[in-house]
Amino acid sequence: MLDAWHSKTLAVRHASTRSEYRENSDAIFLTSSFVFKNAQHAKECFAGEGKGFVYSRFTNPNVDALAERMAALEKAKFGLLTSSGMSAIMILCLALLEAGDEVVCARELFGTSVRLFSQLLVKFGIKVNFVPLTDYEAWQKAVNSKTKFIFCESPSNPLLQIADIEKLAEIAHQSKALLIVDNCLATPALQNPIDFGADIVMHSMTKFIDGGGRCLGGSIVTNDEEIYQKLFAILRMAGPALSPFNAWVLLKSIETLYLRMESHSKNALLVSEWLQKQPFVKCVYHPALASAEQQSLANKQMKRLGAIVSFEINGNKQDAWNLIDQCKLFSITANLGDARSSICHPATTTHNAVDESLKQEIGITESLIRLSIGLEDVQDLCNDLKI
Ligand SMILES: *Cc1c(COP(=O)(O)O)cnc(C)c1O
Repeated sequence: MLDAWHSKTLAVRHASTRSEYRENSDAIFLTSSFVFKNAQHAKECFAGEGKGFVYSRFTNPNVDALAERMAALEKAKFGLLTSSGMSAIMILCLALLEAGDEVVCARELFGTSVRLFSQLLVKFGIKVNFVPLTDYEAWQKAVNSKTKFIFCESPSNPLLQIADIEKLAEIAHQSKALLIVDNCLATPALQNPIDFGADIVMHSMTKFIDGGGRCLGGSIVTNDEEIYQKLFAILRMAGPALSPFNAWVLLKSIETLYLRMESHSKNALLVSEWLQKQPFVKCVYHPALASAEQQSLANKQMKRLGAIVSFEINGNKQDAWNLIDQCKLFSITANLGDARSSICHPATTTHNAVDESLKQEIGITESLIRLSIGLEDVQDLCNDLKI
């Protein structure tokens, strides 16, 4: 069935459950534990021998269904879900790293991911190197026999740089390290990093998978059973489980993911082209407006270019803030991936905690504004940004 159905069909149908009442929409299993038929059955379930759910910290019908669907959409055999995108990264670190190990990360990561890698891991004797996302010589130099994994996002947030995933996989595999890709901005509807050699793909489902800004959630998928078992053991032990309620909401959301990503991408491209013509705009960041090399990489790896557009205005921080404050339609929020378009000032919000010098290096200037383009009418969105 997996081979026969298109991903669009899998997004709507795969791993859907049906109880004895034969409901069409998945039922919710909001229960912390499950009842065994008898003592023998309980023993079997605990030992992982018998069929049956045990406890929603590590097994739940809604959570399992969504994990299977996420894995299918990312073309992976195994999937597991966590309470948030950050706890997915935490589980990866706890499962794959020991004191003395090293990790290499792109420096252009989601702000909290940078903090987790740079502030938390060092407490446990793990060395983290940060390198520029598209400087492959720097990646090559930073990876050594102690490197357990390398970690990147593509496209990056907020400047939409595209990493050559195949190249990064090659660099990682030369040193027997794993490549982990945070596929949050693209989603499986636009990009499957496993096709390009990634070993593990993670998401913050909080963003486009939800699509309505309601639930936190994280996911990890892989084709490697040994890795999956290690991750699952940590999830069971450490406990950052996804709530069945959130899984149930997200199961419905994901049914419209492909449709939404198509509309998000079309709208974002039109807004970026409009922005490029405005006199108050200094430069626009969108993969379609990047260098020829970046464009061809984006077109190779992605089906469409996604919802995020960033731009610098001619002016200073106050001018950027003024533009944000005059918006009546855009929500002023750091969340992204919502049907509702949002606007934020990365330097003072999402990247507030990043070093001033690093901010300058990676291009998070005071006049930079990031948009997550939603599903509203494009002309209304452009009119809202006009100054
Ligand atoms: C939001 C985000 C995360 C963190 O996810 P949460 O669900 O907020 O914990 C990680 N990576 C990227 C790229 C994100 O945008």
